[in-house]
Amino acid sequence: MEKFDAVVVGAGPAGAAAAMTMARAGLSVVLLERGEFPGAKNLFGGVLYRRQLEDILPDEWQNAPVERQIIEQNLWIMGKDAVTKLGHRNEAFKSPNCWTGMRVKFDQWFAERAVAAGALPVYETVATELIREGGKVVGVRTDREHGDLYADVVVIADGVNSLLGKALGVHQEWQPDQVSLAVKEQIFLPKEKILDRFNLEGDEGATIEFVGETSGGMTGLGFLYTNKESISLGIGVMVSDLKRTRVKPYQLLEQAKQHPAIRRLIQGGETKEYAGHLIPEGGLKAVPQLSGDGWVICGDAAQLVNFVHREGTNLAMTSGRYAGETIIAAKQKGDYSRAALSHYDRQVAASFIRKDLKKYQGLHGLLNEIDPKLLFSQLPKAVNEAAFEMLNVDGRTKAEKQRFAINHIKETAGGTWDLLKLGWKGWRAIN
Ligand code: FAD
Repeated sequence: MEKFDAVVVGAGPAGAAAAMTMARAGLSVVLLERGEFPGAKNLFGGVLYRRQLEDILPDEWQNAPVERQIIEQNLWIMGKDAVTKLGHRNEAFKSPNCWTGMRVKFDQWFAERAVAAGALPVYETVATELIREGGKVVGVRTDREHGDLYADVVVIADGVNSLLGKALGVHQEWQPDQVSLAVKEQIFLPKEKILDRFNLEGDEGATIEFVGETSGGMTGLGFLYTNKESISLGIGVMVSDLKRTRVKPYQLLEQAKQHPAIRRLIQGGETKEYAGHLIPEGGLKAVPQLSGDGWVICGDAAQLVNFVHREGTNLAMTSGRYAGETIIAAKQKGDYSRAALSHYDRQVAASFIRKDLKKYQGLHGLLNEIDPKLLFSQLPKAVNEAAFEMLNVDGRTKAEKQRFAINHIKETAGGTWDLLKLGWKGWRAIN
């Protein structure tokens, strides 16, 4: 029976980062992936971040297959036929800060770095269960004949649906208010049209996130990202809201495409790809214990996603790297117990991963407490109506208009006191 130092389940950003880190230190590592190749089954918005990629690949990050370097990020508050825009554009983001990317290309390239470092790729193979002996995890069973793989540590990086995490009992089936379901279309357009429509040059890119009437009164967010020759347009809504309303996410996407501000950006484009995927949005409270005897869990499988800032791949890469570093140290001591591997939990706790999730830990509760219709439909509508009133020159005095705008937003929230309470709760939830 061949035994490895580590078996990594899942060749997404978390698993590949863990495998790369360990293989570089000379550990024997299997990188297991159910897809035909890494990225074949993966979907995101999506934005990739330089800093955490550079931490792992200081000499190679420049070669990452990315689409556009993002120099402008926007948040749109959507009314039915209106939009109020907030945004920031800065040449300093050319350092670069982040890019748009395609998982099918990026994951393949990223996992290839792990393989180049010495990890053994085993693709088109599904890990079906964990093998345990005396309370310890000692390997994984796969769907291949004689496919048991033994290792000192199993790295569970199998994404949001984490079969292995559930089997281990570190977490239950995610609750409908802990995950959102997002659908995304890739709409192809000539490069020149993208540059013109988004006021870009060369390989510059822009992102737009949109909230408001486009999510049909449900807790959700849409996104529109520029790629080289396509636009990624998607919308994600909490599964609990979808269950309650019985609305299908693709219906929301179809409606969003008709919004005048979006329609003009995508018109003439050809939709070639359409897919859906869950996003972990349970926040800090949903993050399970991250290690045990013979195992660690990383990335989406452990709910390590900062949904406020649409950061997931970078948390996945960093958690994978920490897991790898912990296993390297465990090998030096010959100790793969929970006590030794919990160093990984402490690394995550001391890093931006836990600290950022902690910062927003109140938000999940707040979103459950407040009627999503108020936050995601009525208030955005009122903000757009107030903006219209302020800017529409119709002979009424500016003082009248200002009074209308303020009163309209206050009344929508249920009165001055309710608006102040909402603002205070919102502030507390993110601080
Ligand atoms: P995954 O990327 O899901 O990788 C898990 C891997 O495990 C997959 O390759 C899968 O095939 C494999 N696998 C699963 N089960 C098994 C098994 N039993 N056996 C073998 N292999 C298995 N993040 C960002 O940073 N920026 C964004 O803009 C962004 N936008 C997003 C938009 C959408 C619509 C979605 C769905 C997500 C978005 N995210 C974004 C989040 C980001 O995609 C995830 O946080 C990130 O991919 C997590 O990486 P991971 O390696 O933990 O999991």
